[in-house]
Amino acid sequence: MAKKILIINTGGTLSSVMKENGLAPGLSTEEMLKELRMVSGDTKLALMDFCSLDSANIFPEDWAALAAKIGELRSSYDGIVVIHGTDTLAYTSSMLSFMLHNINIPVVITGSQLSITHPVADAMENCRCAIYMAASGCPGVFVAFNRKVMLGCRASKIRTQSFDAFESVNHPYVAEISSQGMHIHKHVLQQRTGVFKLRPKYSDQVFLLKLYPGIHRSMLRSIADQGYRGIYIEAYGLGGMPFVRHDFITAVSELIDQGMTIVVGTQCRYEGSNLSIYETGMRSLEGGVLQAYDMTTEAAMTKLMWVLGQTQKLSEIRDYFSVDLSGEVTLPGTED
Ligand code: ASP
Repeated sequence: MAKKILIINTGGTLSSVMKENGLAPGLSTEEMLKELRMVSGDTKLALMDFCSLDSANIFPEDWAALAAKIGELRSSYDGIVVIHGTDTLAYTSSMLSFMLHNINIPVVITGSQLSITHPVADAMENCRCAIYMAASGCPGVFVAFNRKVMLGCRASKIRTQSFDAFESVNHPYVAEISSQGMHIHKHVLQQRTGVFKLRPKYSDQVFLLKLYPGIHRSMLRSIADQGYRGIYIEAYGLGGMPFVRHDFITAVSELIDQGMTIVVGTQCRYEGSNLSIYETGMRSLEGGVLQAYDMTTEAAMTKLMWVLGQTQKLSEIRDYFSVDLSGEVTLPGTED
């Protein structure tokens, strides 16, 4: 029997048209149906227009509404494809990985660098890959782009213009398309360990801070004064932060003592952080920071937002960061 696939459109370049003020989303799923049918094989498509936004205009409340919609409709379809702008796609795919806990169908997010109406666009190829993955029967939240499929919580946009815009960071691809067809690396898929649970709560009181030589610790105080509950710090290299002259690490520890959750990761895209190597890391571990290890910034930020939406208890927040929820992190001692 033909697999039933729901296409949910949220906008982005894939559905864009030239308007008075530049390229902007404008096509509805109905208007893209001819192209979508050309790449949908023998699947049966259903269409839904969720919103029509450049993904710069996507906000956390959209993630929660999208997760709720997917949760509601998941039993009526074999798979769901979400069309999304590429700019914040990896934030959405990371957050959906947490909100759609143990999702029982494939949810595949895609977009493109050129509008589906463009004769040489990557849009058709990306939709083809996404629809094929959505019909695969492999549950989880994925990103499909440029003939590759990756875990939603490992995807990151690394190029602004090339068709090869997304990378699976610190994690192998879930599937690749070659002259042999689509090969799904089954061992890379996350094991579902329980029933589906929609968990759409989040906190938007989370700040992203990138370190640079000269950053002053007073910045931390003003973030706390504005009511933020969590900070994700993109520190240097393996996760180092300064403690001479501007004693940033002591300022971090003081905020933790006052109830702030601080997660430390790295500005380096690949290979992750490990605070146990250098003094510039060990001191902040002693001060109570949590480690992002090899998470992408998108995954670390959305995990922090999501965790602070689940609990206020510091011990529980710590517990959430000590486990791998959706494949987003490689914890020490669990490497292959
Ligand atoms: N600005 C667009 C967006 O994120 C870019 C794209 O879709 O590729 O919506």
